Amino acid sequence: MFNRSTKKITRFSDFLTGDYARDYIKQDTPYAEQIERAARLINAADYVLIGAGAGMSTAAGAEYGGKFFAEHFAEFQKLYGKGPYMQDMYAAGFYPFPDQESKWGYWSHQALLAGADLDVTPLHRTLLEALKGKKLFLLSTNADHQFEKAGLPAEQIFQTQGSYNLIQCKRGCHPKTYNAVELFRQMERERKDGKIPGELVPKCPVCGGDMEMNLRVDNDFVEDENWHAAEDRFCRFLSECKDKKTVLLELGVGFNTPMIIRFPFEKLTREHENVSLVRLSRSKAMVPASLGERAVGINADMAKSITDISEKLRGWEQE
Ligand SMILES: [Zn+2]
Repeated sequence: MFNRSTKKITRFSDFLTGDYARDYIKQDTPYAEQIERAARLINAADYVLIGAGAGMSTAAGAEYGGKFFAEHFAEFQKLYGKGPYMQDMYAAGFYPFPDQESKWGYWSHQALLAGADLDVTPLHRTLLEALKGKKLFLLSTNADHQFEKAGLPAEQIFQTQGSYNLIQCKRGCHPKTYNAVELFRQMERERKDGKIPGELVPKCPVCGGDMEMNLRVDNDFVEDENWHAAEDRFCRFLSECKDKKTVLLELGVGFNTPMIIRFPFEKLTREHENVSLVRLSRSKAMVPASLGERAVGINADMAKSITDISEKLRGWEQE
């Protein structure tokens, strides 16, 4: 029944899959029972591969729209109108800014608020504390470095979609990224009427063209040396854990980019009977029925489910 793959894992693309699940179910066992099952699976595992999506940062307290946006981006709403763009940090990023001075005036502000200056780590810390003693690795589509801030070593993190701290050549003419946090701070200080001074506009040191955030939005996204080093470490971890007692702990991954964490996690679980899947999400924690007892999907406030699972694990540790 289990199809053991013998293919060697050396590339991130070996891990990705186009498969989609056709047998999703919402588990209807009571919440407390689900927490118990999830905690038992994690307790029995030697390896935990965390897969984190946007829902994890939100559950931890990160805010992107609503009152938060109105409060922190009033200057830009006034300049550009609220329209369809200036509603939240996601949509606003797509605003057709009239020039580079305006574009970086906006982006330096967002990059700091959503990246370098964001600290919603208490929930991340609770989880890492509860997973002490496990061999850990994090695969994350978030660009906000929150697990790293919470104390997970950078060598155990593969942040596949980029970073709010980095910029790159807009057309990706060379495979390098540049840390721009200090530049963003300077832009933040010198911004007037939404614009930064022309001399602060970053230019590509190779082709002289415009620069862009190192966030994956299209095929010009730069995967630099650090990205590939993280890919290698991730592949090594995966090669090691896939035949051991492993839990794939999926946190807040929806259907925005399910091909990066969600579907590959299902495939790994399907193909390796020693691997289990614990999927936490506010509303999208349905799991493939075919995975049976090896998959737990908990639809709940994740701040609560993570805390409850952590408390169970701590309780058993003290026994
Ligand atoms: Zn360039």
